[in-house]
Order: sequence, then C-alpha cells, then structure tokens
Amino acid sequence: MTTSDLFIDGRFVPAATGRTFTTIDPSTGDPIADVAHAGPHDVAAAVSAARAALDGPWSRMPAAERGRLITRLADLVEANADELAELESLDGGKPIRNTRAMDVPAAAAQFRYFGGWPTKIEGETIPVAVPDTLCYTRKEPVGVCAQIIPWNFPLLMAAWKLGPALAAGCTVVVKPAEQTPLTTLRLAGLIAEAGFPAGTVNMLTGDGGTGAALADHPGVDKIAFTGSTAVGREIGAKAGARLTRVTLELGGKSPNIILPDADLDAAIAGSYQGVYFNSGQACNAASRLYAHRSVFDQVIEGLLVRIKEARVGQALDPSTELGPLVSAGQYQRVRGYIRDGIAEGARLRAGEVPGEPDGGFFVQPTLFTDVAPDMRIHREEIFGPVLVATPFDTVDEVVRQANGSEYGLAAGVWTRNLGDAHTLAARLSAGSIYLNTWAPGDPAAPFGGIRASGIGREMGRAGLDAYLEPKTVWTNLTSR
Ligand code: NAP
Ligand code: MG
Repeated sequence: MTTSDLFIDGRFVPAATGRTFTTIDPSTGDPIADVAHAGPHDVAAAVSAARAALDGPWSRMPAAERGRLITRLADLVEANADELAELESLDGGKPIRNTRAMDVPAAAAQFRYFGGWPTKIEGETIPVAVPDTLCYTRKEPVGVCAQIIPWNFPLLMAAWKLGPALAAGCTVVVKPAEQTPLTTLRLAGLIAEAGFPAGTVNMLTGDGGTGAALADHPGVDKIAFTGSTAVGREIGAKAGARLTRVTLELGGKSPNIILPDADLDAAIAGSYQGVYFNSGQACNAASRLYAHRSVFDQVIEGLLVRIKEARVGQALDPSTELGPLVSAGQYQRVRGYIRDGIAEGARLRAGEVPGEPDGGFFVQPTLFTDVAPDMRIHREEIFGPVLVATPFDTVDEVVRQANGSEYGLAAGVWTRNLGDAHTLAARLSAGSIYLNTWAPGDPAAPFGGIRASGIGREMGRAGLDAYLEPKTVWTNLTSR
C-alpha cells in the first residue's frame, strides 16, 4: 500500500509526527491507501507557507497571469478526468457514471469559470459630497483561507472553494474529509503541475482534529466550511470569537412540492433523482416530499416502480446507479434513522432495515409514508437514500409545512401554472428554489442556505465576493 503525503509549500511531505491513517473503499470495506495525518505542527507550516505566498509571488502576479494559472488547472483536471473519476469512485463509493459525467467535468467548469474572473475584479469610483475629494474602492483578497471539505463531493467541493479564493488572490489551506482524501491529493499534484507559486495552495489530510486545529489557527483570515450543521455551529462560534470571516455550507431537509396540475411523469422522475442521487448524500437532497392528496398515490406508485428498478452496486461498475454509503459510520447512522422511522410508526413502503454491513455499505432506496411532522425522519437530515412523503390539501398548509424546518437550503415545486410556481418561489424560505426541476447547477449561479443551512453563498459573483475585502480610499485633491 502506498502512503500519500501532505502538500505544503509546493512539496509533498509526510506529517511532522509521521502519523498516517487508512482510507478505505466503501464498495468493499477494503483499505486503499495510507494517508498522512496532519497535526498542529503541519497546520502551522501550511498557514505560514500560505502567508508567505500571499505576501510574496502570488500577490505580485498580474491578474491575467493568475487567471491563466486557474484556467490551466481546469485544463489539467480535464486531461486527467478518467483518473480523477476512478479515484473519486474508489474512495467515496460514488458511481463511476456520475463521477465521469458530473463530478469531474463540474470541477473543471468551476476552475474555467473562475479563471475568467481575476481580470474583471474592479473597484468603484464613489460620487461623494465632500468637495475636492477623490473616493474609490479597491477589492483586495481576504487573505489566508482555511477551506474544510466534506466527503460527499470531495473534488467538486474543493473546486467550489478553490476557484473563487484563487481568483480573488487569496492563498489557501485545504482540509479534505478523512473518508475521501485521494482526489484532493491528486488535485495538489495538478496544482503543482500548473505552476502555481509554492504555498499558494496547501493540502492537509487528517481528521476532525486537523480541521479544528486549522480553524483555531490565528494566522487564518477566513474559514470556508462545508459539512454538518453541528460542526458548522462550532466553527461559526470560533470565527465569531476571533472575528474571522466565515462562510458555512451546512445541511438541509429540503421540501419538494407536487401540485395537482403537475406533469406527473416529470415530477416523479425529478423527485426520484432529487432524493436518491449520490445515495441521498447531498446537502440539497429532495428529502421531504409533499404531493397533493389527489395525486399522492399515483406519485408513490411511480416512485415505487423506479425504486424497484434501481441498480445498487459497486461504485466502479458502470451500470451502478446508487453506490454504497461513504463509510461504516454513515451506514450505521442511516440504519438508525430507518429503525427509528419504523419505531415511530411511519410506514416503510420500500427498502428495509439494513443488516450488519457485509463488505460494502449498501443501503437500498427507502421510502416512508404515514409520516408525522414531529418524527425524527421528517425533521432531521438523514444524508442517505431515505425519502419521507406526505400528502397535503391546500397550498397554505404545504407552505407552512415546507417552511417549518430549521433548515433552508433548497425547495422545489412541480406545477404547470406559472403564477403558482413563482408565487411559491417567493413564499418558500430557502437559498435555492427549483421549479419543475431539481438541483441543476452552474458555476455562475450562487448556491447556499439560510438558517441552519448556513451563511453566505458559493459560486457566481456572490461566491467571489466572499473572498474579497473592499477598501475605501479617500484623497484630498487640494493638498500639495
Ligand atoms: P462533518 O463532521 O461536519 O465533516 C465535514 C468536514 O469537517 C470534514 O472535513 C471533517 O473532517 C471536518 N471536521 C470535523 N470535525 C471538525 C471540527 N471540530 N473542526 C473543524 N473541522 C471538522 O460531517 P460528517 O461527520 O462527515 O458527516 C455527518 C453529517 O454531516 C452527515 O450525515 C450530513 O448530515 C452532514 N454533511 C453535510 C454535508 C453537506 O454537503 N452539507 C456534507 C457532509 C456531511 P473529518 O471528516 O476528517 O472528520
Ligand atoms: Mg475512502
């Protein structure tokens, strides 16, 4: 088994303590590789390399050159797409058809989009009332950024965070999730190959302790985190105490509403994909379904037909639609929710209580009806292939239910009536609204949540602004 090192100051180095951990293949439960486990000493080295690059070659580089390097990284991700897709599927259990068609091309698209930004970051001239005065703004990089990445879309989430940070002129220390370090490390190799100055991007593999040490480091100017709401609250509290800039991309329990006039075939297909894509391990999964009572049974029947045909299997098998869950821990967590739903009296319409994992961490697509609003499976983010479905009678009632969650990441509506669609888009409280679709994405379109789903936006101009600090310059034009 090979050992993968940390990427600090442009070099691959072992952890200062020599500590490693093993990453496993969730399709089999077998070990894949040993990976360096970064501790506080490595965090300090990475932050100091990022600071030196920020104060040195990276900040002196013309914007056009910065953009060229980010674009070269997009080219390298595309040139190495097959390898990245295989690594992502092997390490995270994501079906190879998805990593090939989605994760890797979407990561390249992020770098390509943000590669165009550096030459367009402009300040403004402000028409102030003070006489004989020139007032303008400069947009400066926030500084050294700590970026903490989840395991559900490891390469893509790294690209979402790195693209805008690099475009803004920041330097970065990235911490991938312990379950899925391999594509981040491969990306480090591509960053070196692209020719970024040493220290501009540093990659620290490790566990939650590594992430905490990074979030605690006083040399970090901004923390960008994607993951659970619990850890997000912890990081938000730390950032608040130190007044460090922070953006948080957290969980969701997103409502998906089917009105009686919807194109039901499209609504069923979209609702199925919306919740079961990536085996439900998506922050914006369509995990709460509300279908009008007049179409409820038809919608459930349609979902059951698709569930029966679902191909659950090994991630590297091209015919697999749903891969395993990412880890034994996640498997046990989802199993606990399924047991809990049954114990609370919900009706299990598809799926089963998973047994002890035998090799891979496979969970069949699961569907509950007869769900009460206060059940845990209805309120909490499960992050597995589990759908809860509820009928409704009136629009006011479904809006109340849909908005009655601590989360606010996404919400969807299926209807043929444009007025209803846009009225509901305004009434539903979430960062993204999907009308007759679920979760399309584009690097130019902002994404993020409200309430317990997070703070700030990623992607698009809003995502770039999160890495820029405006500076206001006042000039007395009469002084000699
Ligand atoms: P998590 O603990 O929040 O992990 C997310 C990232 O934060 C990982 O890189 C993790 O490192 C790191 N981390 C963990 N503890 C930390 C700490 N105290 N300080 C700084 N960084 C820390 O998420 P998880 O435990 O893997 O998953 C649990 C639940 O989180 C899921 O079931 C799901 O509900 C939610 N989740 C949401 C998203 C999303 O996209 N919104 C993504 C993943 C998970 P290690 O992994 O190495 O510990
Ligand atoms: Mg793994």
